[in-house]
Amino acid sequence: MKAKDIAELLDEPACTHNKKEKSGCAKPTPGATDGGCAFDGAQIALLPIADVAHIVHGPIACAGSSWDNRGTRSSGTQLYRIGMTTDLSEQDVIMGRAEKRLFHAIRQAVESYAPPAVFVYNTCVPALIGDDLDAVCKAASEHFATPVVPVDGAGFYGTKNLGNRIAGDAMVKHVIGTREPDPLPAGAERAGIRVHDVNLIGEYNIAGEFWHVLPLLDELGLRVLCTLSGDARFREVQTMHRAEVNMMVCSKAMLNVARKLQERFGTPWFEGSFYGITDTSQALRDFARLIGDADLAVRTEALIAREEAKIRAALEPWRERLAGKRVLLYTGGVKSWSVISALQDLSMKVVATGTKKSTEEDKARIRELMGDDVKMLDEGNPRALLRTVEEYRADILIAGGRNMYTALKGRIPFLDINQEREFGYAGYDGMRELVRQLCLTLESPVWPAVRQPAPWERPVAPAEAQPRALTNA
Ligand code: SF4
Repeated sequence: MKAKDIAELLDEPACTHNKKEKSGCAKPTPGATDGGCAFDGAQIALLPIADVAHIVHGPIACAGSSWDNRGTRSSGTQLYRIGMTTDLSEQDVIMGRAEKRLFHAIRQAVESYAPPAVFVYNTCVPALIGDDLDAVCKAASEHFATPVVPVDGAGFYGTKNLGNRIAGDAMVKHVIGTREPDPLPAGAERAGIRVHDVNLIGEYNIAGEFWHVLPLLDELGLRVLCTLSGDARFREVQTMHRAEVNMMVCSKAMLNVARKLQERFGTPWFEGSFYGITDTSQALRDFARLIGDADLAVRTEALIAREEAKIRAALEPWRERLAGKRVLLYTGGVKSWSVISALQDLSMKVVATGTKKSTEEDKARIRELMGDDVKMLDEGNPRALLRTVEEYRADILIAGGRNMYTALKGRIPFLDINQEREFGYAGYDGMRELVRQLCLTLESPVWPAVRQPAPWERPVAPAEAQPRALTNA
């Protein structure tokens, strides 16, 4: 990828940060890709497209470092879970045969699995030796009569966030707009309900949580052309240009896709979240508002009233157990505010939140929700987290899996909120799971047990301290 293309992606005009501070995202400092490189970001953004063969062009360690470590779910094909790589070795580099290996890898994928498309991810080694990824993909596309899409996000180009955008850019350049949506099935427009086509961008269907939301959209007559990329299929991504509205589910990842679809096809977009009752209702309202169908707006309000009443009644018995509990939330991006909203719906108090990966817009939303006195943590090293837990008397740490051991060593209840988790929290029904997991964590009998001094640390009672009489003296 050329330096000017990388600079353009970094300087995303739809990002509020760039509107204010003009010079784009900061360049990574040495070691800053420890949260994931650009390749990692590109792969996690597209890997949930389930029927595509995803080939990592590079040494096997690149493929191994991020393969299948997310809890994204597919409702059918599992092809995306087969790790494919060209497994480049020193010999391939020295003998200049990396491109040939890539061509043969594409052949093997096509002949073994007949996928509708192959995505090829660039990594540092082939980018450094100057492999022409575009040319190989083009030749393979023609030769195998299968779309082969280059995703040129080598690790050293930048951060994971840049990789997300590179992935989105590849979809806009090579995939979106290459097919028209299927006609509506007979009877889809039941009883005068007009069907509207929508997309979700940045929704990854972690632990299948989007399946909590899909029935609601279905009931409202909102046909999801594509979720980029949770439980998506290649043929769905091809039709994204025909949506009437795009919802950006994560504020940073793939913002460029929403902006470019608006520029090219005039599709309006909004940013929202399905975490919490308030935000789920707001997202449904935003769809109706941007589509501008009066009947849809009325039906949306009726659905919201029904679902909110149902979930509030279901949460009532749990609320007492959670109300007033103090939370340290350490997560990034959109979750730094969307989860706050979900916790406030449960009358819990977020005492501090991590903002290391949050945009200025995310921070503004946090202030809106929690006021100016909220503690924002830019640094999340274990010592800082433990100090904040103590200082703010937090009852629970809600964070990504990598912080689990910090919490456990500090004997603090911990709930995993990031992509690796096994429970879906989106939508109204997701709130039931969230309260269940929060109560199970907070009320686990292990906490009082581990907070007791160990038997050998307890003060010894005088009677116990008496030396035993020797019996065989
Ligand atoms: S692409 Fe580069 S930075 Fe990323 S895992 Fe591979 S070698 Fe490491």
